[in-house]
Amino acid sequence: MVQDSKRTRPNILVTGTPGTGKTTTSAALAESTQLRHISIGDLVREKNLHDGWDDELECHIINEDLVCDELEDVMEQGGNIVDYHGCDFFPERWFDRVVVLQTDNSVLYDRLSKRGYTGAKLTNNIECEIFQVLLEEAKESYPENIVAALKSDTIEDITRNVTTLTDWVRSWQPTPQ
Ligand code: ADP
Ligand code: MN
Repeated sequence: MVQDSKRTRPNILVTGTPGTGKTTTSAALAESTQLRHISIGDLVREKNLHDGWDDELECHIINEDLVCDELEDVMEQGGNIVDYHGCDFFPERWFDRVVVLQTDNSVLYDRLSKRGYTGAKLTNNIECEIFQVLLEEAKESYPENIVAALKSDTIEDITRNVTTLTDWVRSWQPTPQ
């Protein structure tokens, strides 16, 4: 995929099962790089980019087209960290790096229980992690050489991931045209 030549700073997608640490990692990375943290969940709520509420899954039914339209200009500028538990509906050309956070099942179970998840919502997310759904989705949607799976079990993992990604952002350069 040809890279968007207008970007002077990279766009990063941080994805993974709910509870793997996307928001915590993205916020810390934004702090250390001055990139813009865009939480898709917050954006959807703030700008009503949804088609109502899914009672079964207990979440908004995201309108993917509205989200992509909303973000097009800012993604073209570059310098964004996009935080979402899905990755197959964004244009491939938006991202220079796709990070898939992964967490040990028992650790994730405790985190999601603490967050108040129970029943099907809890087991669906644990299964999502066991079957590496987001990693497969990322590999199918983006070139494999830009996709990285990073372990996110402990605070030390977050620190290491943020350091590694910050170094990557600092050394990133647009491809000469
Ligand atoms: P996500 O955005 O992927 O749903 P969050 O960043 O909101 O995940 O993290 C969910 C909870 O788990 C938070 O309480 C956060 O502090 C904790 N957490 C996330 N990642 C880690 C980690 N690597 N080590 C310890 N706690 C973590
Ligand atoms: Mn989050």
